[in-house]
Amino acid sequence: MPQAGRWAAVAAALLAGTAAYTIGAQAAAGGLRLGVRKRGPARAMVALTFDDGPDPVHTPRILDALAASGVRAAFFMVGRQVEAVPAVARAVASAGHDLGNHTYSHRHLWLLSPAASVAEVDRGAWAVAEATGLAPRYFRPPWGAFNWAAYVRAGQLGEERILWSLRPEGWLLPAPASRMAAHVIRRAHPGAIVNLHDRGGHPSTPAETWAALPRMIAGLRARGLEVVPLRALLGDGP
Ligand SMILES: [Zn+2]
Repeated sequence: MPQAGRWAAVAAALLAGTAAYTIGAQAAAGGLRLGVRKRGPARAMVALTFDDGPDPVHTPRILDALAASGVRAAFFMVGRQVEAVPAVARAVASAGHDLGNHTYSHRHLWLLSPAASVAEVDRGAWAVAEATGLAPRYFRPPWGAFNWAAYVRAGQLGEERILWSLRPEGWLLPAPASRMAAHVIRRAHPGAIVNLHDRGGHPSTPAETWAALPRMIAGLRARGLEVVPLRALLGDGP
C-alpha cells in the first residue's frame, strides 16, 4: 500500500474506533435503549430527576419544596460537589430520595480515554457512598452522553443507566418557572422521566426550577399522574 493509502487507512480506522466508542455507545443508550432507561412503563406515574448538585443554596430549597408537596425524586450528584458539601448530600439521602452518580467532575465523556472515564464513574460513586453511606443506585452521564467505558463501568457497579424523556429547560437560554411548569404539565406522559437541575446549567435555572415545582407537581396530579420516586416508576422497589 502506498504511504498515503496507509495513512488514510489508519485515519479511517481511528475514526471508526472513535465513532464506536462515542456514537456507538450513544446509539445503544438512546436509539436502541440497550440497558438504558429513558422512561418507565406506561403507568400513570412520572418521576422528577435533578442533576449536577448538591448545591449549598438551591438543593436545600428544592428539598423543602419537594417535602412540602410530599414528593420524592432522584438526585444525580457530581462527586466533586458531594465532597464540597457532604452535609447537603446526606440531607438528600436522609429525605428518602433516590441517589444517582453523575460522574466525579462532570466532564464530557466523549473527550475522555477509557481509563479516565472509568475513574470518573468510580470516583463519582465513591464520593456519594462516602458522604451518604449509600451506593448510588443509578448513573446518568453529563449531558446524557455515554461512551463505552462509562457505559460498561456503570453496569459493573450495579448502577442502572438512566436518561430522560422530558426536559423543560433550554440548553443555552434560561426557561422561566412558569414555562418550565407548563412544558412538563403539557408534555408529561405515563412513565415520564423529567430532567431538571438543582445546580448547573444557566445561572437562573436552579432558582427557576425551585419556583416551578409546586405548580408543576400540582399540574401533573391534576392530569392524573402520580409523582413517584424513580425506583417506583421503574418498578425497582418501594
Ligand atoms: Zn449534568
